[in-house]
Amino acid sequence: MAEEIYKCCFCEKEMRSGAEVYGLGVKLKEGLEYPGGIGRRTTVHLPVQGRELECIATADGSQAKMEGWDIIFMVCSEKCGKSLKGLLEKEEDFFEEIM
Ligand SMILES: [Zn+2]
Repeated sequence: MAEEIYKCCFCEKEMRSGAEVYGLGVKLKEGLEYPGGIGRRTTVHLPVQGRELECIATADGSQAKMEGWDIIFMVCSEKCGKSLKGLLEKEEDFFEEIM
């Protein structure tokens, strides 16, 4: 099985499996389509600063979904999580709630 390598979606640093990974859960506004396929890594084009962010659409029945999150952004540190959150908050038309 190939080792899963996640990239921090904010600073693009690679995170090896086993490393501490932070997830930023986001709830989409009602009526908004999911980005791409559920449970797969997809790329969201964020109009804020024209950035492309990689995220994971949560699968039905998954822990994240049960907690109410539609998509998860993976980040390498709390610092990146905070910066990313700041970025996402500028796009409040899309997001109902950000963890
Ligand atoms: Zn980072």
